[in-house]
Amino acid sequence: MKKPVVDFDLCIGCGSCIELCPEVFELRDEKAWVIGEDKCSTCDCQEVADICPTEAITFSEE
Ligand code: SF4
Repeated sequence: MKKPVVDFDLCIGCGSCIELCPEVFELRDEKAWVIGEDKCSTCDCQEVADICPTEAITFSEE
């Protein structure tokens, strides 16, 4: 299964991914944390990765 991963070094805490996928991402200390890695089916996580301004979101296959 495809699971989103956030690179904290790249994330600037803009909140776009949280707005689009609140079930998958949560903002903590100005970084996007993955809180629902198995909830990707409820949204299009690839779309989220595409809107991230710093390309901090990638996917691991498991
Ligand atoms: S869209 Fe990208 S930069 Fe913005 S909070 Fe999410 S991971 Fe961080």
